Amino acid sequence: MSTPPPRFTSAPDHRAGFASLIGRPNVGKSTLLNRLLGQKLAIVSPKPQTTRNRIRGIRTRPEGQVIYVDTPGLHPPQGKLGRFLAATVAQAMEEVDVVILVADAKAPLESSAEGVFQALQPVTAPVVLALNKVDLVPDKSRLLPRLQAYADRYPFRALVPISAMDGTGVDRLADVTLGLLPAGPALYPADTVTDQPETLFVAETIREKLFLTMRQEVPYACAVRVEEPVERGPDAPLYIRGEIFVERPSQKAIVIGEGGAMLKRVGQAARRELEAFFGVRVFLDLRVRVRPDWRQDDRALRELGYQRTS
Ligand code: GDP
Ligand code: MG
Repeated sequence: MSTPPPRFTSAPDHRAGFASLIGRPNVGKSTLLNRLLGQKLAIVSPKPQTTRNRIRGIRTRPEGQVIYVDTPGLHPPQGKLGRFLAATVAQAMEEVDVVILVADAKAPLESSAEGVFQALQPVTAPVVLALNKVDLVPDKSRLLPRLQAYADRYPFRALVPISAMDGTGVDRLADVTLGLLPAGPALYPADTVTDQPETLFVAETIREKLFLTMRQEVPYACAVRVEEPVERGPDAPLYIRGEIFVERPSQKAIVIGEGGAMLKRVGQAARRELEAFFGVRVFLDLRVRVRPDWRQDDRALRELGYQRTS
């Protein structure tokens, strides 16, 4: 996608590398990424299967740099978009130094890790279990047998109970992950939070608001494409133009809503968050367009950013 970033010199015991967050839908991978970074980068929603791209977030400390890769949930692939998502996860497990399996502490192992152990079979990198949502398990003595059940199924290098929501155990998870990375200099400048283009972040923010604002299946049929933000003068708000693609005219009507009400709610929620992120006023110009059956159309998938880039 872009040229590799320059390497930076550093102390001999400095570590750096990639760690993928994998797991079933809804176990809290995106919430964990945001918590690890101390800032919101990945979209979070109570609905499963909302993450579509690999979202990469970078955490730099004096001892080392970890590039965390958020992934779509492990899920049986359905349709062309589904196959893209599955390929994205597989790739995210092949090319990394550490795999962090995120699982839900209150779900039984069978439902929370179904299919996951199989997906781990070809993985040669060390795998760490992050047993998430421990805030929902008031009786902590219940966690030990659960951790043991995971340990019986796979030779995890470490088992770390965490709550991505309140932060419990997350620093320990970060330490463990860093300790498993190869020695080497940082891969990105220390102040880099992500190597993703701004436009992807903006598009993902809009997509999150679609999920949070609308019920039903419509948000799954939405893709968002955003143009480079434009500064129109010292006092003018930052101008951002985005297009929401849907598959059918009926969906377009739902996204727009009565008298434009739905699109307005989505736009306002997204604008507030983008203003906080950019630190300036934002004018968000949103249009809705129909791209028939884009989820089954290779060319549309490519144009909307759902393609394998490496
Ligand atoms: P993903 O599909 O694995 O990326 O999951 P998300 O990060 O989108 O989270 C799915 C849902 O679980 C959201 O409603 C989150 O707020 C919730 N969640 C994530 N982590 C925690 C946690 O540690 N505790 C609790 N109680 N909820 C969590
Ligand atoms: Mg996610």
